[in-house]
Amino acid sequence: IHTKLPNVSTTIFSVMSKLATEHKAINLSQGFPNFETDKKLIDLVTIAMQKGYNQYAPMPGLLSLRETIAEKTNNLYGSNYHPETDVTVTSGATQAIFTIISAFIQPGDEVIIFKPAYDSYEPSIELFNGTIVPIQLSAPSFTVDWKEVANKITSKTKMMIINTPHNPTGTVLSKNDMLQLEALLKSTNIILLSDEVYEHIIFDGREHQSIAKYPGLAERAFITASFGKTFHTTGWKMGYCIAPKDLMTEFRKVHQFNVFCSNHPMQYALAEYLKTRDHYISLSAFYQEKRDVFLSLIKDSRFSCTPAAGTYFQLLDYSTITDDGDVAFAERLTKEHKIASIPVSVFNLNQQDDKVLRFCFAKTEDTLKRAAEVLCGI
Ligand code: PMP
Ligand code: GLN
Repeated sequence: IHTKLPNVSTTIFSVMSKLATEHKAINLSQGFPNFETDKKLIDLVTIAMQKGYNQYAPMPGLLSLRETIAEKTNNLYGSNYHPETDVTVTSGATQAIFTIISAFIQPGDEVIIFKPAYDSYEPSIELFNGTIVPIQLSAPSFTVDWKEVANKITSKTKMMIINTPHNPTGTVLSKNDMLQLEALLKSTNIILLSDEVYEHIIFDGREHQSIAKYPGLAERAFITASFGKTFHTTGWKMGYCIAPKDLMTEFRKVHQFNVFCSNHPMQYALAEYLKTRDHYISLSAFYQEKRDVFLSLIKDSRFSCTPAAGTYFQLLDYSTITDDGDVAFAERLTKEHKIASIPVSVFNLNQQDDKVLRFCFAKTEDTLKRAAEVLCGI
């Protein structure tokens, strides 16, 4: 059979989580919290089911949830999104990303992405015969050279995908980055996909640079977001995307045949829960404390790092410990030392190996302590 993704195998997140389970390792690989979400949110889902929200939701999502999302976004970023036309609730950000790509990418269209890149982007582009135009960013700062980006833009460039705060590096784009990007895209028709699933996890007083703050970007952009990251519910697979009406109309043409709609009772629960601002505004401080606990516990280890600026991932450099490649080292750490992480080279261009591993610190203090003990012994 002619297969569509001959070079794609099982994602590293499944591979490492499985290996962690098999070897009873502390799992800091795949990104998910090992603590519960707020009981209030769980109770709201039960209430929604009892109230009868058990059949299909409207195709673009429950209006009360879309209203809350638009209001939250407009308040935070000074944008002017309309709930009826500009917001669609999705089954996680992954579905939103896939749907955006499938709605726009045609054979030969070029899509600029930054490596290391979240692993769902490329296979989604390939499925629609788009051409991936990768730009490799380098450890430890992973800063973007916008002149290099300018050189990669051609008449075939259809889309660019950015991600801030960034998985897996924990870096963020600055205001200056966004202004340069805005200037760069000004005279083009390029669609921007801005993956902002970690918008509420940003540290040390930094401000999230949503494209919603930049009218010249917002007019051509989709924002993708995930309730999994914000409310510790990665298993619910609930998210949304936002874009101006014309772009969203095309998105919904695909969305209606992709999932039609996403989980109805959860939409009701999320709409109610989102009315309290503190539920997401307090998240950065919550995760900054976890990052700080983790980093102070491993400060005497042989790993070195630049503290994550956002996300719940910390890269650790192990170049003083071994010359092993990161895939082999991650495997050895899981099997022999019982701690699982993610090798970053799998997300890099040509599997470029910077001798860094990604550790997820969305964990209880007890787990972080046990993990740090192991890391200090390596
Ligand atoms: N984008 C990035 C950068 C992510 O880290 C993730 C979650 N791992 C997603 C998208 C997907 O989010 P969801 O779980 O809501 O599909
Ligand atoms: N986003 C999560 C991570 O980066 C994993 C998502 C998944 O397993 N697909 O670890």
